[in-house]
Amino acid sequence: MHVELHPRFANTTVGQTAKALTSACVHCGFCLSTCPTYLDKRDERDSPRGRIYLIKHLLESGGASAQTQLHLDRCLTCRNCETACPSGMQYGELLDIGRGLMEQQAPRSVVSRSLRWLLRVVLSRPQLLTTALVLGQTVRPLLPTRFRRKIPERQQPGLLPIEQHTRSMLLLEGCVQRAATPNTNAAARRVLNRLGISLIAAPQAGCCGAVNYHLGAHADGLDNMRRNIDAWWPYIERGAEAIVSSATGCGAMLVDYGRLLAADPAYAEKARQVAELCRDLGEILLQEDLGALAINTQVGKVAIHTPCTLQHALRQPQLLTTLLERAGFDIARNTQKLLCCGSAGTYSVLQSAISERLLATTLCSLTSDQPALIATANIGCQLHLQSAAGVPVVHWIELLDKS
Ligand code: SF4
Ligand code: SF4
Repeated sequence: MHVELHPRFANTTVGQTAKALTSACVHCGFCLSTCPTYLDKRDERDSPRGRIYLIKHLLESGGASAQTQLHLDRCLTCRNCETACPSGMQYGELLDIGRGLMEQQAPRSVVSRSLRWLLRVVLSRPQLLTTALVLGQTVRPLLPTRFRRKIPERQQPGLLPIEQHTRSMLLLEGCVQRAATPNTNAAARRVLNRLGISLIAAPQAGCCGAVNYHLGAHADGLDNMRRNIDAWWPYIERGAEAIVSSATGCGAMLVDYGRLLAADPAYAEKARQVAELCRDLGEILLQEDLGALAINTQVGKVAIHTPCTLQHALRQPQLLTTLLERAGFDIARNTQKLLCCGSAGTYSVLQSAISERLLATTLCSLTSDQPALIATANIGCQLHLQSAAGVPVVHWIELLDKS
């Protein structure tokens, strides 16, 4: 697809990058049948190809209409289209650029701006989120069902090990996960401790930057990344083997640090090294002797939910299945390929109707073999699935924690 850049973008790095990315699309349409929003709306503008055309129009006209905003907002950023594209289209990167430019060109209503700002402020600050969650959990029993099911029940993290091993790795604690399901990181620490690895959290590290960046607030997102690099650097210099993410949504952002900070001379090299050190928790466990954990696998059938970020951003579609099969769990059959569950960061709040329909489809598929529980790898998906699932939805590391 050829793009004639508007003079406003012609001499900019983002303009040239977007032009190069767009040129990969050959209009074939193979991606349409893999796109959850196209399957839901049956509107070309809610397909990957349609959105690429909308971004091309933005790049050529120098402006974005309300229609462009509507259809780019409806994209889940699931990147299913990216792994389906025979032409190697890097849709996620193009969408981020398109959204960033759109925020500058198309004004939003006060209500929309306020809601997006509130989400960015609350979700990227674990302390604030924890306070909001505790308040919600206190009044939870009084709320109507449709609100109650959105607030997770309070969870106890259990005992933490004393970190004393020679081998050490850094843990990205995340924002929502730290507040809503503290047992996930605690379980990760206990499991790695039994394998002789200390999992350390740098106190100054915080949000990975995904919330800000994917909502078009690129400068704030990049600041989050720089803060994390500064917090981790002393540990990296002291020999931390890896930076471990236990939420695939955060992990998908971490592996992009090098690319996103490439133009910042003060951080480019450090960001590249940080991105190289990033590992999903599952990748770490796959290299270890799971037999040493003496796991209790008698939990009934486990349905595996592989988040989009693990499938299409981290490109590890079989990781969870391989890991849980190797650990000895009875895996529920799933005959259908899973599309996005509708969680998608802040999507379940900003596009709740489509999100609920995708949730129902995903749960229908996940529970077709009547599992005892569902295991996933991303906090957003876990909370979204749990809001309507009739069985417990856990992070898979909690299964490995039971011996
Ligand atoms: S599959 Fe790839 S090349 Fe074909 S229309 Fe979709 S994005 Fe473009
Ligand atoms: S990222 Fe997902 S929702 Fe967006 S265009 Fe691609 S497949 Fe469709």
